Amino acid sequence: MIFYKSEEEIALIKEGAVILGKAHAEVCKNIKAGVTTKFLDSIAYEFICDHGGQPSFKGYNGFPATLCISLNDAVVHGIPNDQVLKDGDLVSVDCGVYYQGLHSDSAYSYSVGTPSVEVKKLLEVTKKSLELAIKEAKQGNRIGDISYAVQSYVEKHNMSVVRELCGHGLGKDLHESPEVPNFGRKGSGPKLLSGLVIAIEPMVNFGKKEVYLDKDDHWTFRTKDKKPSAHFEHTIVIRKDNAEVLTTFEYIEEVLNKNG
Ligand code: MG
Ligand code: MG
Repeated sequence: MIFYKSEEEIALIKEGAVILGKAHAEVCKNIKAGVTTKFLDSIAYEFICDHGGQPSFKGYNGFPATLCISLNDAVVHGIPNDQVLKDGDLVSVDCGVYYQGLHSDSAYSYSVGTPSVEVKKLLEVTKKSLELAIKEAKQGNRIGDISYAVQSYVEKHNMSVVRELCGHGLGKDLHESPEVPNFGRKGSGPKLLSGLVIAIEPMVNFGKKEVYLDKDDHWTFRTKDKKPSAHFEHTIVIRKDNAEVLTTFEYIEEVLNKNG
């Protein structure tokens, strides 16, 4: 069952997404060598609570934190802990905000200090695949058009998309129908209609597509070949001629640009 959103609901998701974007920016300011992922989590938690939101992930299926922080070979769902960031790490930060009864969800990936050539390329390709996917997210297209946009761009660059995890509808629940895979055929899957709110979230592996679930924490997905993985995500709403992006990277990118 797909729940289409009213303009009032969309406006509230967008308001919540401002809190989310600013929470990401506060985390971004603190991503540097020597900082623990737990510390980053506490920053996001306080920021969201101080601004009238609630962390969407904390308590979701028992997840213990505000952020998913996934380092290097971790794809997604990493649990913040006492691990210390070091130069060259790839850090994927995923966060959700529950505000006035509705969720927004977005993710951004960073390198700590100067990235390796591999990581730099991976970050660029993953982010660009999200942008291309968003261009396909308009009324009349299908979910498969989004999926194909991600997969074809990523594979053209000899990287791979994760099959086991995907984007999703969201609203009153963090995960609603439909699923939004990062691989698929053009013209396949459910039709996109105005008012559909979805999270598009390419998870891109520098090496092979295979992943496994970490046996110690039962949450973190990791690449089998130990190569790095990146993750970018926006929450968008389908409109007639285009997608309207509800979450924002604006605040994150202000911080990144200031830091050069
Ligand atoms: Mg997310
Ligand atoms: Mg998501």
